[in-house]
Amino acid sequence: MSIIKQLSPHEAQKIAAGEVVERPANIVKELIENALDAQATQITLYVEDGGKKLIRIVDNGCGMSPEDAQLCFKQYATSKISSVNELESINTFGFRGEALASIAAVSKITLTTKLADAREGTKVIIHGGVMQEQTVAACTTGTDITIHNLFFNIPARQKFLKKTTTEWRHVQQLFHAFCFDYPHIHFTLFSEGKKVLNCPSIESKNSTARCAQIWEHNTAQQMLALEATHEIDTTLQIAGVISNHQHYRYDRNNIFLFVNRRWVKNQHLSRALLKGYLNVIPHGRYPAAIIHITVDPTTVDINIHPRKEEIKFLHPRRIEQLIQRAVKQTLEKNLSSQISQNVKFQINRNPTQQATYPEPQAFKSFEQPIRFLQQASDFAKASPDRQDERIEEPSTAISPEQDRKIKENEQALQSAISANNFSPAHPECFSEKNVSRDTDYKLLTQFQKTYLLIEKENGLFLVDQHAAHERILYELFSTRFDKVATVQLIFPQMISLTKLDLQTLEPHLHIFQKNGIGIEPFGTNQLRVQSTPVHLKDQSLDDLVQQVLAWIKEYQSLDQEQFFKTINEKLHAQMACKAAVKAGDVLTTEKMEQLLRDLATTPNRFTCPHGRPTGWLLSIDDIEKKFKRRL
Ligand code: ADP
Ligand code: MG
Repeated sequence: MSIIKQLSPHEAQKIAAGEVVERPANIVKELIENALDAQATQITLYVEDGGKKLIRIVDNGCGMSPEDAQLCFKQYATSKISSVNELESINTFGFRGEALASIAAVSKITLTTKLADAREGTKVIIHGGVMQEQTVAACTTGTDITIHNLFFNIPARQKFLKKTTTEWRHVQQLFHAFCFDYPHIHFTLFSEGKKVLNCPSIESKNSTARCAQIWEHNTAQQMLALEATHEIDTTLQIAGVISNHQHYRYDRNNIFLFVNRRWVKNQHLSRALLKGYLNVIPHGRYPAAIIHITVDPTTVDINIHPRKEEIKFLHPRRIEQLIQRAVKQTLEKNLSSQISQNVKFQINRNPTQQATYPEPQAFKSFEQPIRFLQQASDFAKASPDRQDERIEEPSTAISPEQDRKIKENEQALQSAISANNFSPAHPECFSEKNVSRDTDYKLLTQFQKTYLLIEKENGLFLVDQHAAHERILYELFSTRFDKVATVQLIFPQMISLTKLDLQTLEPHLHIFQKNGIGIEPFGTNQLRVQSTPVHLKDQSLDDLVQQVLAWIKEYQSLDQEQFFKTINEKLHAQMACKAAVKAGDVLTTEKMEQLLRDLATTPNRFTCPHGRPTGWLLSIDDIEKKFKRRL
């Protein structure tokens, strides 16, 4: 006797439905896509119990005839293609004619629909795929479809539906994606009878305006426009908005990626986006981003999953690199302009008022870079006979010959910076205009001897003087060390160590030497420092040596190359930290001005080497809210 039975078409359809419909959000997706395919301009979604009890979509699209209102629930019934050969040229979402049949098989549906030129509409009620009634109905043009009690006839599946809040989150996320993807459509969302979102149509393709309808005002304010085309494959383009370096959240829910106008959740693409934010926002935090990717349709396969959620690219790396680079450059450009573009320095040249910024004694290390930049820029203008005016003896420890060498080095560094050797992609950030001494900043003052306050069109920009200077020096030490001047100390520094520590350190002294610190053993338990980079010339190097000793012990198990690399990097960070101005150091206007100019030309300038932000914008919006000028 045979134990194999063929399932009835009805039962088979219920099983097949599982491929399309797993949760309420899948239904919402199919129905909104149908409304879009029907050229609707207004789409309203009603949800109850996260969509488990009710999903209703009302659109003002083309509607259906009484015949189609019945046919649409049949499997493989579609108005969008009539043969597989048309697949390549379709421009609608649907084409399988599966969705309504599947949804109907596992729920109770009421459909009301009317064609534009029809006098009356049609109402169809269908339960578990079985037609209950079809009547004439008075209704407006378009389609109104209600799905009640999902999986009412498959308890096994109903059990797998998640909590209402989870299903609702999925629906909401999907709805937001449609809103971002179709800004010209008026979307409205109701949950449990209450209107929770209203997004009237937006004329331009301005995603920021859409963000303002969907997210809180603050997030929308922090979005930056992004646009890029692949340099070789020009059919590959990306456009959208991404949040600036001041915004981040604890989840990825504000990241939306679209490929040829389809919302996709692709790990590789979102990883590329996050890589663009490396060193910009803290680890484990996520930006907000709406990115539309346009690719040649023949290089992408969207048809690999019944729910069309997955996507395959012919050249995935190309797209990932384009995203990563565009994000990085957009952020760089924004910070550069925050620091150096829209603002004007008000340099107070009044000598009596200048006295309110006393020359600090504490910043010998910072004096040098400031002085060199002034001199370097003067140098270009100066006639040879004015040269002596520029050379002011920096300290008794430096001979005129050394001083000349320092200036040459510093000049070379300055020209390297202005010659824009950092980001060729954005020469405008590094043009003479932005790094020159033109008065295009409005620096207000130093606050708490720690922060520089800068007036900006859209708020108050704060720079942490230590973090910023630390980053400037770190980049200088790690990438342009050949341009850093070293000075011979007339009175060498002596550092005492135990015999054992000296023995440990001795084979590695070349690491110091490579970094401009001339150091050698002196007797059995001392080191003698004879030269240092100019930025460290007044610093005691005792703790730096102790620190390196500790790293040598900690990392000795690494192979030689890794060992050197690790210690070298750490040494750069430590040297930068030591040489940088500290919180509590009073800065003159000139020094603040220089710091900002240097920061504008420094790579990775969003954070200090330890990951703290260098700059922060207190937006005019926030200020106005505090004063209750705005709600
Ligand atoms: P597909 O979208 O793949 O064609 P569906 O099962 O989603 O398959 O829909 C079947 C057909 O029903 C569509 O081809 C379309 O003709 C019609 N239809 C569905 N929803 C709507 C709607 N909102 N407005 C007008 N026609 C619709
Ligand atoms: Mg469809």
